[in-house]
Amino acid sequence: MTSLDPRAPLVLDTRELGRRPGSQRQVELTVPAPAQLGIEVLSVPEGAPVELDLRLEAVMEGVLLTGTATAGLVGECVRCLQPIEDEVHVDLQELYVYPDQHDKAAEHDDSDLDDETSLLEDDLLDLEPLLRDAVVLALPFQPLCTDDCPGLCTECGARLADDPDHAHEAPIDPRWAGLQVLTQDQQD
Ligand SMILES: [Zn+2]
Ligand SMILES: [Zn+2]
Repeated sequence: MTSLDPRAPLVLDTRELGRRPGSQRQVELTVPAPAQLGIEVLSVPEGAPVELDLRLEAVMEGVLLTGTATAGLVGECVRCLQPIEDEVHVDLQELYVYPDQHDKAAEHDDSDLDDETSLLEDDLLDLEPLLRDAVVLALPFQPLCTDDCPGLCTECGARLADDPDHAHEAPIDPRWAGLQVLTQDQQD
């Protein structure tokens, strides 16, 4: 019994590749992005196209997948909340181990193979965890509209990049109020 759905867009069938080491297949495909691909403030919209350019290669232990994924991103600047559109381009590499190879390695206590090992299930491999990790790692932790985005005015919430000379007469920013008292004391 397998938990992978062969019709899922990010589940690839490696049967055609065969098990002869060195056998290769090039796979180019565009798949709809799974939900929550990215981080809260910057992500690939669900269903948006993810372009995959992959190479599958049969090796002794399993199937070695290498390639790239490219997708559009939408999000917002963490300082000024302006919408951001960007693109993410990531390299993918993962060894999907044949289940029988994995069992054999486990018997010999091969520390290279642990619970993190990606396994083939009925010649199917699941690209989603790999894609998800690669995209999240590639994203900036705090996306900005520009590197030096000045953010929002603390008084009125105006976007300071649109209005750099922005100033308020009153009320006085509480951070400076103490300073003004000092100045008045000196004048007395
Ligand atoms: Zn910004
Ligand atoms: Zn303001």
